[in-house]
Amino acid sequence: MTVYHGTVLDTPHSPFHGGGLRAESDAGIAVEAGVVVDRGPFARVRAARPDDEVVDLAGGVLLPGLVDTHVHFPQIRVIGGLGKPLLSWLDGRALPEEARMSDVHHAGVIAADFVDGLARAGTTTALVFGAHFAPAVDLLFERAAAVGLRVTAGLVVGDRNLRPELEVSAERAYSDGRSLAERWHGKERLRYAVTPRFSLATTPGLLESCAALLGDVDGALFTSHVNENPAEVAAVAQLFPECAHYVDTYDRFALLGRRSVLAHSVHPTDAELDVLAGTGASVAHCPSSNSALGSGLFPLRRHVERGVRVALGTDVGAGTGFSLLREGLQAYFMQALQGYPLTSAHLLWLATRAGAAALDLPDVGDLSVGRQFDAVWVRPQEGGTLDRVLGHADDADDALAKVFALGCAADIRSSWVAGGPVRLLS
Ligand SMILES: [Zn+2]
Repeated sequence: MTVYHGTVLDTPHSPFHGGGLRAESDAGIAVEAGVVVDRGPFARVRAARPDDEVVDLAGGVLLPGLVDTHVHFPQIRVIGGLGKPLLSWLDGRALPEEARMSDVHHAGVIAADFVDGLARAGTTTALVFGAHFAPAVDLLFERAAAVGLRVTAGLVVGDRNLRPELEVSAERAYSDGRSLAERWHGKERLRYAVTPRFSLATTPGLLESCAALLGDVDGALFTSHVNENPAEVAAVAQLFPECAHYVDTYDRFALLGRRSVLAHSVHPTDAELDVLAGTGASVAHCPSSNSALGSGLFPLRRHVERGVRVALGTDVGAGTGFSLLREGLQAYFMQALQGYPLTSAHLLWLATRAGAAALDLPDVGDLSVGRQFDAVWVRPQEGGTLDRVLGHADDADDALAKVFALGCAADIRSSWVAGGPVRLLS
């Protein structure tokens, strides 16, 4: 057994529904076989197990491990490609880079850079948009297993409106996806996600094959994009005249449920929000990406009021980096601009427990007794601004706000998944 000693902040209950920040300074968390078995004042927790190892986390704060619900494996090198809206960004920036993933040597380098980037940012769990090429997806899973992260990912599929080398038949999409799931789904902390790129790149036949795969892989997730950009929304409406709206292009193929995560939802109708709420599907809100591509101001209040579950995603490479702290700050900015001010507890909820719920991981996302010990120690770099101001915070909420405002990957000192340290390999 190990006892972790420090200041612990988490959000076991949603601040959008009456919960708030739970803060304990001088806390002890006892962990056995990867699970939190006791938590409380350090003196009491320590006295109950005087012979066990103590990990001293003095200075900074211990948070639950961060959860990224939308991030693209092939796109790390297009981070920073500014100045284009979605569809021309895809054609000019993202899809050429996606095509390079057919080269397994390149894919291996990117897999290492990508997974290490997640880990260094304090992300312990991620729903990852994979690559269009199965060998590249294998390399992603291999690296995630070696580093020790919880990663859910899959083969990205599309059969129209893409570069020809990225398109795949419905039969091949099913068979390649099925064999990837057989190799990785349920192995260590890895799971499979059925991943059509977006409805703009899919025919009804391909979505039917996605539904078949989702039905045949027990416990698989579903992920895609929705309502990101007005031109995209209009193009999807033209391609699917039989559908009531964009969300319906997935719902009509029975792809939406509690293990479904759709990125963006910047331009939803109320009818679409009702379908998302009714099916239990979650939205991955990606505020940096929405800002960088000029996609729009995410209507968080409408999602919350209509009962849609929302978590955070970095959306690398349209997003501008792996830090969910910065993503939380950007979410704050975008809601402040719409008259919906969030607290630091809302940001932590979105970056941790909400993400775990979206990914159907009930044992992850806060540091309560019975949860997995997935945690990140934010210990500010000596001399940096966060280091200089954190000790002068008014209270725990203010300290957490300072972490979101000023924290970056360099301030992530350690992280753990299921009680084991995340292994940085390079
Ligand atoms: Zn995306």
